[in-house]
Amino acid sequence: MEKIKIGISSCLLGNNVRYDGGHKWDRYVTETLEEYFEWVPVCPEVEYGLPIPREAMHLVGEPATPRLVTVRTGIDHTSGMLKWSDKKLKDIENEELCGFIFKSRSPSSGISGVKVYTPSGMPSRRGTGIFGGAFMRHFPIIPVIDDGRLHDPQLRENFIERIFVYRRWKDFLQNNTSIKDLVAFHTEHKLLILSHSPKHLSALGKLVADAKRRDRKELFTEYIRVLMEGIQLIATAKKNTNVLLHIAGYFKKNLSPDDKQELLEIIDQYHRKYVPLIVPIVIINHYIRKFNEPYLQKQYYLCPHPLEMMLRNHV
Ligand code: SF4
Repeated sequence: MEKIKIGISSCLLGNNVRYDGGHKWDRYVTETLEEYFEWVPVCPEVEYGLPIPREAMHLVGEPATPRLVTVRTGIDHTSGMLKWSDKKLKDIENEELCGFIFKSRSPSSGISGVKVYTPSGMPSRRGTGIFGGAFMRHFPIIPVIDDGRLHDPQLRENFIERIFVYRRWKDFLQNNTSIKDLVAFHTEHKLLILSHSPKHLSALGKLVADAKRRDRKELFTEYIRVLMEGIQLIATAKKNTNVLLHIAGYFKKNLSPDDKQELLEIIDQYHRKYVPLIVPIVIINHYIRKFNEPYLQKQYYLCPHPLEMMLRNHV
């Protein structure tokens, strides 16, 4: 498999680019994810022109429009950093990124919960870093996460699933652009979308049904926007259980009463969080192969990312 390009805050790769000359190396990134992803490192502060080491900075003012200021000497780098971010984001357009992992809590790279200090010196945790915020405004549908959330199994699985969906969408745009191809893409992702948001599945179904009457470019833009918005919602145990029961319905004529009972019991054990999602999925995949069920065979829900990543062993 060709590696997928993912942007990343440079210090997470172990590069000594932090204000104190250190790094924030993340083992999971370099030891597990590197097998599937090609990194595009970005250090906004260094690329903007600040030295290593340098004076620490923080955000001050209004959380919605904070200023990036050095802590001790009060030098304001906001407009310089915004200008650099604009140029950098235009360059990044050519990289074809399918995701970005940001350093949490950084006044430059953070994407949420960054401390913003009021004039009285009181911090609130409601800010986004200058570059992190600019990235999300420029690329609203590219999946993003920070290193803190990356270590939450559910948020990690969600992030990586979105990366693979987005990558398949990019491949789709390169190879197919007919309505028939869009219908096929949508059909293969139906159960995956259902596991995140029945509401978004229904909206996407309407878009596809209306496809022939729509301008093609506008349709595709709207389709991927709604899709990425929907799958950002967490696939909870309740939502996954609904999908698993729906899938179990496909085997009602093939399974013996005993096997049927066993499958329902395993789904229930997953619902009660006694076993992880991978357990019912393995059994279902076994039945799909055994009974040659063509609609289910094509569902990305049953294999949304490489099994070796073991993401569903922990959710
Ligand atoms: S958090 Fe961002 S700005 Fe700070 S060192 Fe890491 S990459 Fe550079």
